Amino acid sequence: MKGDLLYEGKAKKVFLVEGDSQALILSYKNDATAFNGKKKANFIGKGKYNNLITAKIFDYLHRKGIKTHFQKSLNDTEQLVTKTTIIPVEVVVRNVAAGSITKRLGIKEKTVFSPPLVELFYKNDDLSDPLINEEHARILTNVDPFEIEQIKEAARAINDLLLAFFQSVNLQLADFKLEFGKDAKGNLLLADEISPDTCRLWDMETGEKMDKDVFREDIGDLIETYDAILQRLEAVK
Ligand code: 5GP
Repeated sequence: MKGDLLYEGKAKKVFLVEGDSQALILSYKNDATAFNGKKKANFIGKGKYNNLITAKIFDYLHRKGIKTHFQKSLNDTEQLVTKTTIIPVEVVVRNVAAGSITKRLGIKEKTVFSPPLVELFYKNDDLSDPLINEEHARILTNVDPFEIEQIKEAARAINDLLLAFFQSVNLQLADFKLEFGKDAKGNLLLADEISPDTCRLWDMETGEKMDKDVFREDIGDLIETYDAILQRLEAVK
C-alpha cells in the first residue's frame, strides 16, 4: 500500500511502500517544465501518458535483458519500482545533433553521430545540470571508474535497443537521457523514466517533432503528441 511521500520532483512524486522497504511508487504529475524550470505549465493527462509510455519501454528493455528498477504499472499514473539510490549523473545519448549540443558546440542540428555520442551531466538544479567528464563524475559521486564505464556501456546497449524499438513505429530517436541507481545489494539498475519528456523523437516520414520540444518550442499540442506516441507503442507486440 502507498506510504508517505518521500520526495517530490518536477515531473514525479515518489512514495514509500508500506511493508516493503525495498520498493517505491512513482506517481507521474501533469506538470511540464523546461529550461531548468524557467518555463512551466500543466497538461491534464500528461502524467498518464508518461507513466504508460515509460512502462511500455521499460517492459521492452527488461525483455531484452536490461536490468531496470521497473516492476509494474499500478494504475494510469503510478508505477511500482525497486528502490535505488540514484547516481546524480544524467547520461545523454545522441544519435543526431539537437538541443543543447547545437548551442554549446555550434554543431548543426541533424548532424549524425556515428558512433552515437554519450555525454554525462551532473544532476544538480542549482548548477543547471552542467556537462561533466568521467573524472568529474568520480569526484562528484561515489561511483568508481569501472562503474562509469559500465554505465556508458549500458547506455550504448539501451540506445541500440531503443533505436530499433522506435524505428518499428516510424520514429527516429534523436537523443535521450538516462538515469541509473543502485539497489540495496549494490546492483546497477536503469532508473527514472523514458518518455517523450526525456527523448527526442522525430516522425521518420515527416520529420515532425513528437516529444517535449513541442512544449519547449511552442510548436504543437503536447497531449495530442504524447497520445500519438502511446498509440504507436501500443501497437507493438
Ligand atoms: P539537451 O542536452 O539537448 O537539453 O537534452 C538531450 C536529451 O536529454 C533530450 O532528449 C532531453 O529531453 C533529455 N534531457 C536532458 N536533460 C534532461 C532533464 O533534466 N530532464 C528531462 N526530462 N530530459 C532531459
